[in-house]
Amino acid sequence: MRELNCILDDIDVYQKRINGSAQTPKEIFTFQRELLAMQLAVLKEYPLSLPSKEEIVLRLKRDKRILSPKDFTEPLWTELLNVTKKIVEEQLPEAMRSEAFNKDDISAFIWQLSARPIVMSLRSQAEEIIRKWKDPNCPVCGGGATFNRIRVEGTRTLACSWCNAEWGFERFRCAFCGENDSDKFRHWILEGNIPYRIELCHTCRHYLKVLTEEKLPEEERDGRRPLWVEDIGTLFLDIAAEKAGFHRDGLLGLRAGKVEEAISLMS
Ligand SMILES: [Zn+2]
Ligand SMILES: [Zn+2]
Repeated sequence: MRELNCILDDIDVYQKRINGSAQTPKEIFTFQRELLAMQLAVLKEYPLSLPSKEEIVLRLKRDKRILSPKDFTEPLWTELLNVTKKIVEEQLPEAMRSEAFNKDDISAFIWQLSARPIVMSLRSQAEEIIRKWKDPNCPVCGGGATFNRIRVEGTRTLACSWCNAEWGFERFRCAFCGENDSDKFRHWILEGNIPYRIELCHTCRHYLKVLTEEKLPEEERDGRRPLWVEDIGTLFLDIAAEKAGFHRDGLLGLRAGKVEEAISLMS
């Protein structure tokens, strides 16, 4: 619960920072904030029972992810779905509607947004384990990375914008197909003094957005900028990468992922 309240603060801090930026429509953050606030109210009424540390270790060993169908307890899950569906129907900003959205995509999108407080709570329960994780996929949900951070000293961490998990990974390797040939796995350095770049893999055509901390003001180079909020605020990078012919597997929390993947977690 405390963890999720911090998440609302993350949005506020970010929104103040980018105030007036034409690249990130304000409505995106207003929507995300409103949604999380409503979901927090649901969690207050129907508290989530989190797995023990032992259970977490067991699940990771067995499934390579912590999230399990057991975490979708009733009536919490139904309530989260109802609240989320209502807000998406009434308030989803135009900037978040993908042209490719069809009926199935929307259901998966609502599913993902509804489950976000659950996966984020799981992440906070597994802090120590996540720090030691070295696989390309998220230890909490098992999905692919959605963001990257490169620290001033050159270390790289992958992040999942759904669970808010962040874990270490090799610097020069595609997190999707393992490519490490420097002709095929490249960084797209963008014009202007912005702290972002985009990793492009010419082998599997995945891209991954990067926050380069050396481009941040000195006092902010501490590895603490929340990447899930950075992800929401950098939709313009997704548009650029997609125009260049690259893709990502579902913009968790932003656009629909693969319906089958989402639903399979529940079966
Ligand atoms: Zn995840
Ligand atoms: Zn690749």
